[in-house]
Amino acid sequence: MVDVEIVVINMNRVVIKTQDKNKRIKNFDEVSFTLSKEAAIKEANRCLNCPNPNCMKGCPVNIRIPEFIQSIKNDDLELANKIIRDANNLPEICGRVCPQESQCEKYCIQGFKGESVAIGALERYVADNAKNKELINVKKNGKKVAIIGSGPSGLSCAYELIKNGFDVTIYESLHKAGGVLTYGIPSFRLPKELVQNIIDDLETNGVKFIYNAIVGKNILLSELQKEYDAIFIGTGAGLPKFMNIKNETANGVFSANEILTRINLMSDKTPLYEASNACVIGGGNVAMDAARSLRRMGMNVTIVYRRNEELLPARKEEYVHALEEGIKFDFLTLPKEVLIDDDNNVLGLKVIKTKIDDDKVVELSGTEYNLGCDMVVMALGTTPAKLINSEELLNVSDKGLIITDDYLTNINNVYAGGDAITGSATVIKAMEAGKKAAIKIIESLS
Ligand code: FAD
Ligand code: SF4
Repeated sequence: MVDVEIVVINMNRVVIKTQDKNKRIKNFDEVSFTLSKEAAIKEANRCLNCPNPNCMKGCPVNIRIPEFIQSIKNDDLELANKIIRDANNLPEICGRVCPQESQCEKYCIQGFKGESVAIGALERYVADNAKNKELINVKKNGKKVAIIGSGPSGLSCAYELIKNGFDVTIYESLHKAGGVLTYGIPSFRLPKELVQNIIDDLETNGVKFIYNAIVGKNILLSELQKEYDAIFIGTGAGLPKFMNIKNETANGVFSANEILTRINLMSDKTPLYEASNACVIGGGNVAMDAARSLRRMGMNVTIVYRRNEELLPARKEEYVHALEEGIKFDFLTLPKEVLIDDDNNVLGLKVIKTKIDDDKVVELSGTEYNLGCDMVVMALGTTPAKLINSEELLNVSDKGLIITDDYLTNINNVYAGGDAITGSATVIKAMEAGKKAAIKIIESLS
């Protein structure tokens, strides 16, 4: 029996149950629970079925939200699931990690008077409870497509292509598929079995996965071009940014990507650096994920963010959960230098206070002080890695993003989408890009 604590988000809105905050900092099990049938139907009944539903406009893939909610009211989960999956190949993921508060739920009319309908939680309820996965039984069309990268853009591209009879092979540089869903977002927000179910489903439907295949290094784009009718590049933006401050290369300074990859993917093989007090620099989802993961590894964690609480880019839910889990926040604080001992080990951070002036961060002179810590984690954003383009065939921007025109790159039959063309964005936007690029491939090869 799991102990639960009830978080009342609003008197009107559904009660979302979460794992007890004192227990969950000792495990990586999911924090929030799926709604029960009773709670889901009750919440669905708050939907006013607006004739001109703004929530749909807020969803990047325009799920027919009032229609699927109506099916929940009628207790017809299979129909609700079909309506959602017409637009979104990954609802079990998006129902959990989409920034709903700034997308679909932001535009829900109920939210103007009180609390919006919990659209994300309802989507998750459907995806978790419907029977789902049916064998895709379409006649093969004899055309072969290679997908590079198995993140949400690559996976949704694969779904769309196999539904249309294409033969699909996914080349993935790591030993596991899923991209950020597997090695970035921790299991307490997104259980890994859900991602594995999607990979298994694609394999069952004939998609081939080739692991440890770094395109641009041990296999070239030009070699794939000879073998396939079209290529989709969904290689993401996995290269972490650093601050370029003094002593940044000291022992105990890491990127959030490295910390999360070690914990999510390689915890049994690569031990984590031993530390007790970590400072995580940044204020987005990645900073929260790194901080909450380190907390679960037994550390005291402080998030150092140069702007104020109102400007925190992380999802509100994550911020609230981080506070509940005992993570400290130093707002309006900018790191200037990593402090080290004689052996080049981290001793702390020299920081300065800031203020926000006309949307800019301004340092307040004379306010420097030292924050003690033995680990520093940088969560400052990412850019795409250059490996895929080792032959310099692709046109890229000065930020390293692949340049496309409606997902088509400068090379015939080579498409790209997701973070590789936009920079770090969201799962639903990557999913949308993979799906739209697949539609382009289908049109062009038909
Ligand atoms: P990725 O998911 O980055 O997948 C790219 C894949 O390509 C990887 O598997 C990589 O190994 C592979 N690859 C790279 N180069 C090569 C190569 N040369 N050859 C072969 N394979 C290669 N978004 C949200 O919507 N909500 C969230 O809560 C959220 N939280 C996040 C938390 C973290 C820690 C991070 C890092 C991101 C988060 N995001 C979140 C952003 C979201 O996960 C990404 O926008 C999304 O995963 C991008 O999908 P993608 O398919 O473009 O790339
Ligand atoms: Fe909302 Fe995301 Fe679902 Fe669209 S995919 S309805 S934005 S939770």
